[in-house]
Amino acid sequence: MELGNKVIITAALTGAMTPKELNPAIPLTPEEIAEDAYNCWKAGAAVVHLHMRDEKGLGTMDKERFKKTVDLIKQKRDCDVVINCTTSGDNRAGNEERMAHLPYVMPEMASFDAGSFNWMPFGIFDNSPQFLELLGLKMKELNIKPEYEIFDSGFMNIVNYYVKKGVLSEPGHYQFVLGVNGGMEASVKNLQFLYDLLPEEATWSAFGLGKQHLPIMYATLALGGHIRVGLEDNVYYSKGRLATNVGFVERAVRVIKEFGKTPATPDEARQILGIKKI
Ligand code: ZN
Repeated sequence: MELGNKVIITAALTGAMTPKELNPAIPLTPEEIAEDAYNCWKAGAAVVHLHMRDEKGLGTMDKERFKKTVDLIKQKRDCDVVINCTTSGDNRAGNEERMAHLPYVMPEMASFDAGSFNWMPFGIFDNSPQFLELLGLKMKELNIKPEYEIFDSGFMNIVNYYVKKGVLSEPGHYQFVLGVNGGMEASVKNLQFLYDLLPEEATWSAFGLGKQHLPIMYATLALGGHIRVGLEDNVYYSKGRLATNVGFVERAVRVIKEFGKTPATPDEARQILGIKKI
């Protein structure tokens, strides 16, 4: 199978923060998230990146909610989408709570936010060296593929540190998160800079927040990367027009095809990322 022509679309459905008042299409309950995950998979997403929300709509690391949502997705018998769970869904959660869902749910992938910074204006995005070591080892033990979320160029050195230490394995999968206030700005120049820092065998994906979404998506395709879309990162489809997750995935599919490539199926994504199907 020719995988060089395949582009993985990850749908980041809800995130930890964006209130439903900003866009009523943001899924909050396990039922809503599972339904959206299924519809995004049908539209062409190979991976769904999951956060959970509590009854008030706030981000939570409640492992029961993760379990319920993932069970609901798996109940859709034809759906083989790759499940990627956040480990940063609630900034009040302690180290253990941020990892408790991993052995309980056994997602094929999970996020590994490789550093800390001031996430303006909300607070410190806290990913201490101690936490990252625990998280890396836990994911290794459970055979869960880490997705290194890179908000700034120094995070690349942090990943390298854990690779050298044997906490993380190569080849890694990197997700460039551009446009958070406190992280790197979402510009094509910054994307190119990060791209140049990637290890030879790495796989990677990128997205820009808000209105920088499209320039980063097109530049990512041009550089040979994979794509992330979804209401976690962006609530508008275009100026003044509210988005849906499925609408974002459908647009990404069209853009990939126009570019001359093909959206990866979940099994192709597993091959590209080196994930053994559970
Ligand atoms: Zn996330």
